[in-house]
Amino acid sequence: MTDTPAADLKPSFRSDVTVELVKHTASDTDVLFAARVSTLGEQSLGELQKDPERSKGLINYLMRDRHGSPFEHNSMTFLISAPIFVFREFMRHRVGWSYNEESGRYRELEPVFYVPGESRKLVQEGRPGKYVFVEGTPAQQELTGRVMEDSYRHAYEAYQEMLAAGVAREVARAVLPVGLFSSMYATCNARSLMHFLGLRTQHEQAKVPSFPQREIEMVGEKMEAQWAELMPLTYAAFNANGRMAP
Ligand SMILES: Cc1cc2nc3c(=O)[nH]c(=O)nc-3n(C[C@H](O)[C@H](O)[C@H](O)COP(=O)(O)OP(=O)(O)OC[C@H]3O[C@@H](n4cnc5c(N)ncnc54)[C@H](O)[C@@H]3O)c2cc1C
Repeated sequence: MTDTPAADLKPSFRSDVTVELVKHTASDTDVLFAARVSTLGEQSLGELQKDPERSKGLINYLMRDRHGSPFEHNSMTFLISAPIFVFREFMRHRVGWSYNEESGRYRELEPVFYVPGESRKLVQEGRPGKYVFVEGTPAQQELTGRVMEDSYRHAYEAYQEMLAAGVAREVARAVLPVGLFSSMYATCNARSLMHFLGLRTQHEQAKVPSFPQREIEMVGEKMEAQWAELMPLTYAAFNANGRMAP
């Protein structure tokens, strides 16, 4: 909850997203003990530290042959701050994900808005499924920043005007755009994260290329970097096998 009255809040503009790994129980050994129960039963926990090369080989075999369930015995919780249009895409991922997002009914929304940075390619060419994005001209870049900021300011003033007149937050928020930043906790496991990354990032090792919107890819890249440190063998096997979730 914020105590700052809306009238004191000045719009601010961001081009980045943030992803913080706030909680995890996730390691390659979580995959190994789950997989080895097949052949070792309850002794599988005792085998964890034995023969690292075999462990690497087992993880690669599970990934290659798409034995996916051993990759589910782990958990990662991320705190993500990104524009609403990113969350709208994100929450299409239903399986192996839990979400909690800040509420526009119970709190006054802060005026933080997304404006593309200089490296964000602005112009789309081609046809659906075959789009290519290219740099905008300096005039297009200037226009995009200016028009977005003006529009965001105008929308937030309308929001404030309604709140000041006593209109409920849940009604007034209808005027706010999808470029508004929101925050959420998203909890997943390695298998559901791999499925997400396969669809929402572009990568030279991907067997099946995907064409995600750049802003959700920015979130995916940050999640990927943090997950890679927790589960290096699983991460290497994911890449080596074409970045398809098992
Ligand atoms: C580049 C791109 C463009 C997209 N464009 C659009 C768009 O224009 N419009 C749009 O609406 N969406 C669009 N999407 C969203 C897309 O259709 C999926 O909703 C999203 O990627 C989540 O994928 P998923 O269903 O595989 O994931 P999850 O919901 O996490 O499901 C994981 C897997 O579980 C299985 N599964 C889950 N639910 C069911 C079910 N009900 N029945 C059978 N199997 C199930 C499937 O195997 C599925 O792959 C786009 C996604 C991408 C990556």
